[in-house]
Amino acid sequence: MTAGTVTVIDHPLVQHKLTLMRQKERSTNSFRELLCEISTLLAYEVTRDLPLVYQEIETPFAKMQAPMLEGKKVVLVNILRAGTGMVDGMLRILPSARVGHIGLYRDPETLGAVEYYFKMPNEIGDREVIVVDPMIATGNSAIAAVERIKTARPKAIKFVCILASPEGLASFHEVHPDVPIFAAAVDEGLDEHGYIRPGLGDAGDRLFGTK
Ligand code: URA
Repeated sequence: MTAGTVTVIDHPLVQHKLTLMRQKERSTNSFRELLCEISTLLAYEVTRDLPLVYQEIETPFAKMQAPMLEGKKVVLVNILRAGTGMVDGMLRILPSARVGHIGLYRDPETLGAVEYYFKMPNEIGDREVIVVDPMIATGNSAIAAVERIKTARPKAIKFVCILASPEGLASFHEVHPDVPIFAAAVDEGLDEHGYIRPGLGDAGDRLFGTK
């Protein structure tokens, strides 16, 4: 794998749904549904390279060697709280995935990430981890989450977000060049409060209707 890769998923369905999510008049319910749908589409792209093995099966007409996913189940890691909006959409096509949670909040003064919760499935060591958080803004929480997940020594880690800032991507890949990022779009940059512009607002607030 090339170090520090960012893959923008430019599929028309992803881009269309992202535009709908950005609209400020969109309801909480609709935002939540779109985040779920877009996450399903991102999961499809991000799992493109999962290894397959061939197994003999029997169709109603004949025996054949047919491909199936190899190995252990994937682990989705939800960065609380906005990552919650991505997990169900991904589980729709990865129904056997295990789910870990990591709780981080952003210190409003320093914008640094502070951990308050960490719970991973057993045997993460043999598994591929897909970390989800809709936004990579400063990159601080993404960096801290991946640092913490690496202590559990998973086989590989990928990071999936909806929007990223160029600053956040640069900081992230300075620390974690081995973790590829998948995003629906990379926006212009951050404002003075650490929000992505033009962005889609505060993903957690829009998902849960808390503002
Ligand atoms: N978190 C969000 O939800 N939105 C931003 O723009 C930045 C961080």
